[in-house]
Amino acid sequence: MVKICCIGAGYVGGPTMAVIALKCPSIEVAVVDISVPRINAWNSDQLPIYEPGLEEVVKQCRGKNLFFSTDVEKHVREANIVFVSVNTPTKTQGLGAGKAADLTYWESAARMIADVSKSDKIVVEKSTVPVKTAEAIEKILMHNSRGINFQILSNPEFLAEGTAINDLFKPDRVLIGGRETPEGMKAIKALKDVYAHWVPEDRILCTNLWSAEVSKLAANAFLAQRISSVNAMSALCEATGADVSQVSHAIGFDSRIGPKFLNASVGFGGSCFQKDILNLVYICECNGLPEVANYWKQVIKVNDYQKTRFVNRVVSSMFNTVSGKKIAILGFAFKKDTGDTRETPAIDVCKGLMGDKARLSIYDPQVPQEHIQRDLQMNKFDWDHPIHLQPTSPSTINQVIVASDAYEATKDSHGVCILTEWDEFKNLDYQKIYNNMQKPAFVFDGRNILDVEKLRKIGFIVYSIGKPLDK
Ligand code: NAD
Repeated sequence: MVKICCIGAGYVGGPTMAVIALKCPSIEVAVVDISVPRINAWNSDQLPIYEPGLEEVVKQCRGKNLFFSTDVEKHVREANIVFVSVNTPTKTQGLGAGKAADLTYWESAARMIADVSKSDKIVVEKSTVPVKTAEAIEKILMHNSRGINFQILSNPEFLAEGTAINDLFKPDRVLIGGRETPEGMKAIKALKDVYAHWVPEDRILCTNLWSAEVSKLAANAFLAQRISSVNAMSALCEATGADVSQVSHAIGFDSRIGPKFLNASVGFGGSCFQKDILNLVYICECNGLPEVANYWKQVIKVNDYQKTRFVNRVVSSMFNTVSGKKIAILGFAFKKDTGDTRETPAIDVCKGLMGDKARLSIYDPQVPQEHIQRDLQMNKFDWDHPIHLQPTSPSTINQVIVASDAYEATKDSHGVCILTEWDEFKNLDYQKIYNNMQKPAFVFDGRNILDVEKLRKIGFIVYSIGKPLDK
């Protein structure tokens, strides 16, 4: 019987394993984590992450062939296939600080696997890791193996938060990289057999280890680059009177370009794009490819520029100062349908406005108050100059209140910033909001989800990314 264990019960480990359990009733799946609160939440009615459709999947399998546990060693020992889906954040100190991936969690997971294993295992890289990580992991495992055979596979995850369950049910592709040896091929087949329960065979791609590792970094870099490209164009549109939505529509008709992922916005966020590009930059630099590194670095620089541009637009539109003015922030998560705030552009925008002494009233349907306050108090890590900046002062934090709905957030405000494209923000009663705001009332749509003409008719002064400006 195949037994799977996944180390790391986060945004990737939890949903991917829940779907494997659902689609493969004959396989026993254990998801383990060192975080007791996280595992307790997975075993409760209040799952630790918000993801549409996830609760239903978990409820169907939990206690049958899906288990969440903190007994990491037991489940690793019993499994034939061990996925490792631990976090791989950007290093903040030492060699490569600000760019390289921090593989501390991965290394400790690998050492633990070697320590506790009593039978042969396939170890699967699910986390996003630098190319050649499999070689490092092999060394750790082999040198501690006591005769046990470990086969390493790279099986990067391409799900997007907010649509994770759908992405896992119908993946564009599943990628499996392995050694081109008889044992490596056997391991690839074993993992392929798991996915073959529901993924069509032509969507399961098998490559060598390094191609799989590079493909994940490449995919995220290409996606982020597309966002920075359209955002760069949005700045030009604003300067010239062009409309970025019309431009996206026009260029998206070109079948070589395609229409997806061409929405201009306040910038990309999330735990992956910036981290993985920085990692790519570091790998290129280490491999003597500074020009390639600089090319990818620019994707992040444009993203930072877009957030700064947005803040500057808010302040300059409101007569060059927001000092003491109440500004409503609608949306704090890095995208809709998730409560995840890692690297959300809202953090930089809020901090920028707070720097100009604005008072912020923040509402997000899925982000708890304590996460918003935590994020705004965290030191900003400057990847370009990896030193920690001063913590936000307590008085600055007093400038922030967290509202329980959009109407409360916007009441008496001078301006409204839309920072996450939540559907509910499209359907608010903007006449009511306008009536309860200070005048002139401003809307800054950082996601281009609102009907600008309708808002202007109500009386708002509206700024949308990359669109002709109000006179
Ligand atoms: P996460 O922080 O939500 O989860 C990681 C979990 O691993 C945490 O709960 C942590 O407690 C646990 N952990 C760390 N060390 C451990 C150990 N030694 N033993 C047991 N548990 C341990 O991270 P995530 O968002 O799930 O991302 C995981 C990996 O997947 C990262 O490399 C990320 O880049 C990649 N990835 C993320 C996404 C995404 O959308 N979040 C998508 C694709 C790939």
